[in-house]
Amino acid sequence: MKNQQRTIARVVEYSGIGLFTGEEVKLRFKPSSVNTGINFIRTDIEGNPKIPANVETVSDCKQQISLKKQGVEIKSIEHLMAALAGLGIDNIEIEINGNEVPAGDGSSLLFTQLLKGTGIVPLEKLKKTFFLQKELKVSNGDASIIARPYDKGLSLSYILDFNGSFLNRQCFEIEMTESNFSTQIAPARTFGLSTIVEEFKKKGLGKGVTDENSLILHEDGTITKPLSMTPAKLKFPNECIRHKILDIIGDLYLTNLSLHARIVAIKSGHYLNARMAEKIFENSKNQINN
Ligand SMILES: [Zn+2]
Repeated sequence: MKNQQRTIARVVEYSGIGLFTGEEVKLRFKPSSVNTGINFIRTDIEGNPKIPANVETVSDCKQQISLKKQGVEIKSIEHLMAALAGLGIDNIEIEINGNEVPAGDGSSLLFTQLLKGTGIVPLEKLKKTFFLQKELKVSNGDASIIARPYDKGLSLSYILDFNGSFLNRQCFEIEMTESNFSTQIAPARTFGLSTIVEEFKKKGLGKGVTDENSLILHEDGTITKPLSMTPAKLKFPNECIRHKILDIIGDLYLTNLSLHARIVAIKSGHYLNARMAEKIFENSKNQINN
């Protein structure tokens, strides 16, 4: 089943609130046939419009990833996309009765466990596998991502650096396997810098933030819960950098490819991740093996 396309074995549902909108929405995951891809279906809109999750439908990639097709939007898809990438799910329908994917616990753990729990089944065709052939680079100020040829799978490394404040410079490197993803990356929760969180509150964003679904990183390096401001119990001592890797995994899956490459990211976020996904996708055209 390793190189075959995959879907889930049965329908499964989940309800929760979106981080930005604070609205409760219901998700319904449904198995999907070969070569149909990852599709969101807005069941709260007449005609149940379908929004495919790929590089062509990305409409916003500043704080989170939004998709839009024919005026219909779906926000905050990145942690769900990471779970799909981690489990190697190529085809799935995700019905949703609102415009933002629920935050869960702020990581990909909940989605990973939920989908894995249905059973993951192989389909009759091979995955769209892409071996990167040449080096690609995207940058923005002092942030950058380099993708290099690598034939053993997907290797990811990240350098976190806030130029002396928040956290000391950190590096983290991991080979992307289903087991590494589930145990080392999926549980890492989203975090916000204390300075940005204040700005968010002023703009009325982050209505769904709770002590259970995000972390706040303060300039002195402490990490607290966002509302009670009590010390957060971390899943890993370096949970923040692991979450940055989680975001890259989700964002690169907008290519819908089983990617073989070595990714070296320095201080990148969704904007650069999405630009790299676009670049890889462009590069992959005419080179996919099936
Ligand atoms: Zn994230």
